[in-house]
Parts: sequence; C-alpha cells; structure tokens
Amino acid sequence: MTAASSSAPEPVLILGGGLMGLAIAHQLARRGIAATVLSRRRSEAAGFVAAGMLAPHAEGLRGDLLRLGQLSLARIPSWVAQIEADSGLPCGLRSTGIVVPLRNAEERQAYPTAAFGEALNRQQLEQELPGLAPQWQAGLLFAQDGQIDNRRQLMRALESACVDRGVHFQEGVEVLELLQDNGRFQGVRTRDSEGREATLQGCSAVLCSGAWSAQLLPELPVFPVKGQMLSLQTPRGALRRIIFGPGTYLVPREDGLVVVGATSERDAGFSEGLTPQGQTTLHHGIQSLLPDAINWPPMERWWGFRPCTPDEAPLLGDGPIAGLLLACGHHRNGVLLAAITAELIGDLASGTSPRNDLMALLPSFRWDRFR
Ligand SMILES: Cc1cc2nc3c(=O)[nH]c(=O)nc-3n(C[C@H](O)[C@H](O)[C@H](O)COP(=O)(O)OP(=O)(O)OC[C@H]3O[C@@H](n4cnc5c(N)ncnc54)[C@H](O)[C@@H]3O)c2cc1C
Repeated sequence: MTAASSSAPEPVLILGGGLMGLAIAHQLARRGIAATVLSRRRSEAAGFVAAGMLAPHAEGLRGDLLRLGQLSLARIPSWVAQIEADSGLPCGLRSTGIVVPLRNAEERQAYPTAAFGEALNRQQLEQELPGLAPQWQAGLLFAQDGQIDNRRQLMRALESACVDRGVHFQEGVEVLELLQDNGRFQGVRTRDSEGREATLQGCSAVLCSGAWSAQLLPELPVFPVKGQMLSLQTPRGALRRIIFGPGTYLVPREDGLVVVGATSERDAGFSEGLTPQGQTTLHHGIQSLLPDAINWPPMERWWGFRPCTPDEAPLLGDGPIAGLLLACGHHRNGVLLAAITAELIGDLASGTSPRNDLMALLPSFRWDRFR
C-alpha cells in the first residue's frame, strides 16, 4: 500500500522496523494479517545493538516485570523455531546460563531473584568463571537464563521471515505524524528518504518506535538511555558462561567473540557516537570482573538507545488513541520480551483473547499507569 485511496483491506501499519516491529509483523503475518512496516532507519534500531541476554533472573527483575520476563523466556524456544523455520536462518539462541558474581554471601541472599538461582561459593565461582577477580567471593548461577545473537543473526532472520511471509516494508520512511479523528486512529503522514511526503490511511497500527516513541505520541513517558558497547576476540573457550557484574557484563558468543556492555547514560539524550568516558567505564568494568580480558584484542565498538520508561517496564496494549496498539518502552529487556510482546500484540490485533496468565499482567503495563 503506497497511497491513501486503496480499496483493499488496509494492512496493520507497524510504526518502526526495529526488534518489536519485526517480531510483531512476523506474528501478524503468521496469523494471516497483512502488515506494512514503516522504518526510518534500520541501522539505528536497538535490536542491532543489544547484547542479547535473556536474563529475567540475572537482571534481578521484580514483580510483574519478572513474571512477564519468565513468560517470554519460556516462549523463546518455540518463537525462535518459528523464525528459523520461516527464514531458513539460525537465530543464535544459546543456553549458556548467566553467573552473577557478588562480594559475599549477604549480597547473594539479598539479590532480588536469589531464590531462582544456584548459590555459588568462591571455589564454585572459579570453576564457572576461571580468572574471575578475587573480590568476588560469592555468586548466583542462573542456568535457565541465556542469550541470542540479535546483532548478527536474530534481526536478519526476523527480516527474512517477514519477507517470506509477505510483510510489506517501506524502508527509509519516517512517520511524521499520527492522524486521528475523535480519538480514533486514521493513518499517518510520512516522509521518504527523498523528502517526499505522503499520507497512509489505516484503521489499525502498532506504535513500536523504540526510544523515539514519544516523538510521535508525547503523552508516552518513553525516553532514551544510551548504551555503549564493544566486543573482544577471546581465546576459544576462555569464557563459557555470561558474567553479569554490577554495571558491566561479558557475553561469550559461539564464534569466539565476547560482547561487553554497557554504559547506561540517562543524560545523553539522543547524542550519537562513542565517548572516551564511556569506553573507559567499559574497560574498568572488564578489569573488575576478569582482569586477563583487558588484554584480549578489541574488535568492534558501537552504541544505541534503550527505550526507557519511569519504572523501566514496557507500555503494552491499548493506548490513548483507539486502533493504535502500543509496544514500546522495553528498556534493557527488549530482546528477552520480544517473544511475549509479539504474541500479545498478535492476539490483540487479531481479536484473540491473550492467554490468562498474560492477560492478568496487562494492567501493570498500561501506558497511563504513572498518572
Ligand atoms: C546497549 C544496549 C544493550 C542492550 N542489551 C539487551 C540485552 O542484553 N537483553 C535484552 O533483552 N535487551 C537489551 N537491550 C534492549 C533492547 O535492545 C531494546 O529493548 C529493544 O531493541 C527495543 O526494541 P524496539 O523495537 O522497541 O526499538 P528499536 O529496536 O530501537 O527499533 C525502533 C525502530 O523504530 C524506528 N523509528 C523510530 N521513530 C520512527 C519514525 N518516526 N518513523 C519510522 N520509524 C521510526 C527506528 O528507526 C528504529 O529502527 C539493549 C539495548 C541497548 C541499547
């Protein structure tokens, strides 16, 4: 669909072609619902930035966000199987487990998700993480947490699965404005990469524009939290588990790279680029966890913007405009939550009732819960 006057049924407009946009478009297409993805800039999506940890327990999530994360974690193997079957490409899902190193047993006991992990003493920590710095005397192993290679595999596989399932893409197209009449969604005004403006009519859409979501709907309390990252080339097998330290984590990929993240810069706004301070923070973090790793050769450095909200949990479901569903604000757990978000939005957009345990959580993720 390219113009306002089509007589065919209008596809669901997916406003943003990042991780959520692709995951949702794919689920809609699997249910036989036509979707058009409007994507301003593929490369700026946090989906291409993230470390890909699937870590509701290692992150120490609490309450309904923890429950949402656990539901998504359980959904991920079948979700990935669908994407791999549709695309013919691997997604890089790995069950490496995650170790959280802590200073002592008291810190371990106080960890919000301690009940879900295996308690480790120093000796056990050394077995799990050879070379771990000596200040870490206790730890928690979350064997059920894992990772997916979002940067090199998942995003590409999702794009390919969408194309194979007939999702329509408009790349380089920015949504400038949401059109509404009496509180009902009517379509969007767009501008393409050559500066041409157009109107796309539609009666249903999903707002999944990541950290930029509030630029389209200023009522939404979504703001960017910048993260800088780097990768290191490791001696093969040097790191088996993910290390999730305070402020820094190391994620070993299958190909011998270790992804190191991430700064959490709430005052940076949308300022692009690496900073010396950000890179120094990462180096200090590496040294405090795994001193030998400071000598592993750096390969790549990059940055991106997490879509954050005041309680660091997403905005899901109905929003202030009828016909416009929300799937934004996933902050630092969007890769983890993509599977359950896509299922939920797929249900809501197709008029299917979400499963009971998911439905019960929905009030905690309403867009207006902060009022
Ligand atoms: C440094 C870092 C590390 C992370 N690590 C992890 C992790 O280990 N585990 C985890 O679960 N999560 C992690 N995350 C979080 C995860 O990446 C995000 O929560 C997730 O990618 C959000 O997906 P999204 O689709 O909402 O946003 P994005 O993936 O950012 O996509 C948004 C898209 O919308 C497009 N867009 C914006 N405005 C418009 C417009 N007006 N018109 C058209 N298109 C528009 C943008 O171009 C962009 O492509 C990390 C994030 C960062 C930055």
